[in-house]
Amino acid sequence: MSQRNIHTQNVAGQDIQELFCRALHHGTATHKALLQNGGTAAAGLNAQGRPGDPVTPAIVPSSVYFLPGDPAGPYQYARWTNPTWSALEEALSILEDAEAVIFPSGMAAEAAILCSQPKPGDRVLLPSDAYYTTRVLAETYLVPAGISVLTCPSANYDSQDFAGLRMVWIESPSNPGLDICDIRKAVAQARQAGAIVVVDNTTPTPLGQRPLDLGADVVVSSDTKTINGHSDVVFGHVASRQAGLIAGARDWRKLCGAIPGPFESWLVHRGLETLEVRFERMCGNAEALAPRLAEHRKVQQVKFPGLPSHPAHAVAKSQMLRFAMILGVTLSDKNSAEQFINGCKFIRPTTSFGGVHTSAERRARWGDKVPEGFVRLSVGCEPLEQLWKEMKAALDSL
Ligand code: PLP
Repeated sequence: MSQRNIHTQNVAGQDIQELFCRALHHGTATHKALLQNGGTAAAGLNAQGRPGDPVTPAIVPSSVYFLPGDPAGPYQYARWTNPTWSALEEALSILEDAEAVIFPSGMAAEAAILCSQPKPGDRVLLPSDAYYTTRVLAETYLVPAGISVLTCPSANYDSQDFAGLRMVWIESPSNPGLDICDIRKAVAQARQAGAIVVVDNTTPTPLGQRPLDLGADVVVSSDTKTINGHSDVVFGHVASRQAGLIAGARDWRKLCGAIPGPFESWLVHRGLETLEVRFERMCGNAEALAPRLAEHRKVQQVKFPGLPSHPAHAVAKSQMLRFAMILGVTLSDKNSAEQFINGCKFIRPTTSFGGVHTSAERRARWGDKVPEGFVRLSVGCEPLEQLWKEMKAALDSL
């Protein structure tokens, strides 16, 4: 399925591919220009503009920088800024078409918004069916600070009264149930109420959904998942077009000291460079597997925003460029689900998603409100027919 054009105010499908190319090559044009002008040291630690300079970002582990006299320049102390962070933040900012700030985990990115924006007396709406740690964070730190935390299923945001809210938190598709919230409608309601809208865009990534173009104020992402994609880093970022929100996130990181390591930042930057090809393969695989799994006699239900049987397929189509890589596959019971996961050669039994390897888990094992036989299947980059052959064999043997 090719990339669709979503009718947003700013960015359409082909523009996102253009943004991806620019993110991939950021720095190249500056460096070439410097080389043509005979080279200078003006481009910063990462791009000196000399033949023989490395083309990859440098990993700068230094905790201090030469800082004689009155403090000046972009790098003064490594809890505040770091050149390896800057390179990644530039690439993410181009891709998000908004300023991005990186964090050492998706939860650190969430905390930078959730814990810094609402004030005592404010009311915050969270999805009751989305990533559970967001709710635990809010219950643990916001409620004792005098902030009211309300919850509502993602699919019911339309009928929820937003009056008096300060912040509306959306995760669409929701994790793990894959329900859809109509982001445009939620933004319109939030505007009337004077609330800001935050979207956790971890599952679709900026290539699959553009919440800021749909009107949201902030995006948060767990880059541990698809953005890095290789299951070897825990990471996150925040992106926004509002200077005040970005300044707040930067201050939070600087003052709390929850900062990313240079090596992890470099790894995520390397992962980001293959995001487009990985995402294309994963989404294509998921779209092809969804109907095949749904037809298998051992499968009770497949939930996937890309299937016409999904209750909010029309909304998903109107706001997503791709339907992402997660399928909710319900088998008859706990044992069948475990046998499927463990019996398929090409499924890794893990508790994350978005990696190049197909992985799966029963979400009921964490207490999520899903059937015991519900498997969250994260479809990877394996060649489709080999993957399907092994999945089918595992299902046939149940
Ligand atoms: N948001 C979503 C949708 C997630 O699934 C997760 C983790 O699973 C997070 C945020 C938190 O990210 P991290 O584990 O990188 O802190």
